[in-house]
Amino acid sequence: MDAIRTTCAYCGVGCGISATVTGKRTVEIAGDPDHPANRGRLCSKGTHLGETVELEGRLLHPIIGKKRASWDRALDLVAKRFKETISRHGPNSVAFYVSGQLLTEDYYVANKLMKGFIGTANIDTNSRLCMSSAVAGHMRAFGEDIVPATYNDLDAADLIVLVGSNTAWCHPVVYQRIRARCEAGAKLVVIDPRRTETAEEADLHLAIRPGSDVALMTGLLQHCREAGVVDEAYLTAHVAVPTDFWNQLGEGNDLWSVARTCDVSVADLRRFYELFAANPRTVTMFSQGINQSTAGTDQVNAILNLHLATGRIGKPGAAPFSITGQPNAMGGREVGGLASTLAAHMDFAPDNRARVQRFWAAPTIAEKPGLKAVDLFRAVGEGRIKALWVMATNPAVSMPDANRVHEALAACPFVVVSDVIEQTDTGAFAHVRLPAAAWGEKDGTVTNSDRTISRQRALFPLPGEAMPDWWIIKEVARRMGWKTAFAYDRPADIWREHCRLSTYDNDGSRIFALPGAAQGGNAAYDAMIPFRWGGEQIFADGNYPTDDGRARLVPVTQKPLADPLEKWPMTLNSGRYRDQWHTMTRTGLAPKLARHRAEPLVEVHPDDGLRLGLVDGSLARVETPQGDSIFRVAIHDGQRRGEVFVPIHWTERTSSGGRAGLLPRPLVDPVSGQPGFKRTPAKVEPVTPRWRGFLLLANELPDLPPCMWATRVAVPSGVMWELAGDGDLLAVEALLPRGQRVEADDRARGTRRIAVIANGRLTGALFVTETGELPPRDWLIAQLSAPDVAPTLLAGRAPGVQADHGAIICVCFDIGVKTIVAAVRERQLVDVASIGAALGAGTNCGSCRPALARILAEETSNAA
Ligand code: SF4
Repeated sequence: MDAIRTTCAYCGVGCGISATVTGKRTVEIAGDPDHPANRGRLCSKGTHLGETVELEGRLLHPIIGKKRASWDRALDLVAKRFKETISRHGPNSVAFYVSGQLLTEDYYVANKLMKGFIGTANIDTNSRLCMSSAVAGHMRAFGEDIVPATYNDLDAADLIVLVGSNTAWCHPVVYQRIRARCEAGAKLVVIDPRRTETAEEADLHLAIRPGSDVALMTGLLQHCREAGVVDEAYLTAHVAVPTDFWNQLGEGNDLWSVARTCDVSVADLRRFYELFAANPRTVTMFSQGINQSTAGTDQVNAILNLHLATGRIGKPGAAPFSITGQPNAMGGREVGGLASTLAAHMDFAPDNRARVQRFWAAPTIAEKPGLKAVDLFRAVGEGRIKALWVMATNPAVSMPDANRVHEALAACPFVVVSDVIEQTDTGAFAHVRLPAAAWGEKDGTVTNSDRTISRQRALFPLPGEAMPDWWIIKEVARRMGWKTAFAYDRPADIWREHCRLSTYDNDGSRIFALPGAAQGGNAAYDAMIPFRWGGEQIFADGNYPTDDGRARLVPVTQKPLADPLEKWPMTLNSGRYRDQWHTMTRTGLAPKLARHRAEPLVEVHPDDGLRLGLVDGSLARVETPQGDSIFRVAIHDGQRRGEVFVPIHWTERTSSGGRAGLLPRPLVDPVSGQPGFKRTPAKVEPVTPRWRGFLLLANELPDLPPCMWATRVAVPSGVMWELAGDGDLLAVEALLPRGQRVEADDRARGTRRIAVIANGRLTGALFVTETGELPPRDWLIAQLSAPDVAPTLLAGRAPGVQADHGAIICVCFDIGVKTIVAAVRERQLVDVASIGAALGAGTNCGSCRPALARILAEETSNAA
């Protein structure tokens, strides 16, 4: 079968994939060498997409309450309840909460239904949590939400500044491009409170105090002015500078004051400022560390101010670059899928509203911005939203203050969830669940971080009764009475309408426009190759989409940073792991991806570990005013003292602890409404269970194991649960399957080991101990798929001597840290390339290359 060109399901890099279907639900995945975003490269997540396309856990039929229903009944019910609610309580009593996982065509139909036909802007998206501060910052500075940079700018830059972005883990393919540029001589500066793998490879890392970004960037602007690198001619021609902008800037922005505020050395700060001043071709790439802040929009504008003031925009290798988290966050922005925008990059100005209403031939049009995510769920909790439709996202996990979101969903009179997964934390509250098409089944377009629009194409037929999101939404719209306006037969119909709206009554004042695309027929849509809207250098002519054609410098000032509180002395940060995505509904299916980080860890500085009695590998409770959760401790000197980091991926379905969403405050940026996930006051204390252990099963469990702490780990041919508990083991032992049991007890250490054998194969094992050691898991996990039971099963190891390869670093080739260290020492390997040549590590997806560099650096320093 011919390979199908499609795009990756995950991050905003938007890598092209060449997919060869090899069976009913099997596919071989390779990077698309012709896609401009990745030129054939994929990271570990994209590489292992093929492991996630089976139907395990899928929602395949509509469900009303707990019973399977026909599509007709389910759609009729959704339409009826939304209509009734609107007619009794008005349009503002209903809301949609959608997702950057939707394709542009899905997003377009949802936005049109809510804003043009229901008549409210109560449609917001999980992209609110990801990059809405970037949207707001762009609109303030440029007049329109425009990302001026492209990936090609990275290839041309002499200096790349990464701010609040662990690019090596979160956007690995772009990071490989950055590394390639650095190997050709560009300098890399990383600004991040944590010493991440990205920071470890930088020429300079500024581990600034969280939340001090405005001070850092404003001090840099002052330095640029004093160093004479402000581009006065560019400002005069193209930028509106508020009166007193420069006078206000000078106060408290000297090197020493800024170093104090940011808690970095004057020498490092000076080095950064001098590097920036000396390199006109600078790209400043920023991500969640900037956006997810209660001052996110000001932080964005502090960066945009710098680029505008130095004229570093609209030129090759010189641009501010907001990189998005989700695969189609940008497509959502283009259709207007945020509550704060109307459609096609238009806001709610009267002429825009009239234009969009006219184009849609809509009976009404939303008058003003709707409720943004945090306010939306608050309104659900207060009973102001009475019917809510959640599409392709899991707010019960991902919203801040998740306990309140649970209460709100439980109290909402009517909740609809369209999803690909049957059991999700949010789906548990749904009155109606609608089975949506997943990646590999749906057709449409996505826009990546550098404005490149690509097709996502179906690889498999729709399974069960699953249907694409656009179809589900338009069927509800038609049942609500708007048959003609939603008479779409295929995604191409919607795409053409979206393109026509982008150019409708557009005299050039809106940069977002897809002129040629509107004319193509279905065949052209099917054959679409990736293209970038807006061109390569979008502001090359210095014209901005504002009333006077000028960009704006926006005055911003650093907010005071409060000292830690006595009761909450630590600062909590959260983020992603390299090989997991969001709430792991897809990546959690791939055992290989669990090997990089199998459990949710709380990373703690060694001094804090000592002070708080936290030992590496033990458990700790992280508590905030909003809730608490238990994580495995990882002592890591890349953390700043007094600050801890946890991952965002684990849910109520996959861990009784490790749930980051329970912890942040629902505080938001006043302009963008984006929650400030990155700086939550917290306390951390050790948790000492009586026993710890693990449970290995050939089959999934319906519920979490009943003990103090349990975390699911995907393994080949089964599932593993890491456990800890206080009570007796009977309830956990009861989870073992039926079969022949072999057991061993060591009362002195409180150790108990049980293996269950059925039909000559291992089907379950439980290993626990109070004071003893537990065996490494790899060999036992492999026994789940072994044809014969090994006699040493209860020893947890193979007969004879067993090589210990250490924690897996390269998931593509299963190469552990001990193997790599041994090879570096014995074969005197000196760089990442020579490790690749010797072992293969880092030669496929490249995601582990920063980790290989770190191991080399440690070995070099040990040898010295
Ligand atoms: Fe997918 Fe990785 Fe590319 Fe992101 S960098 S789009 S996760 S392959």
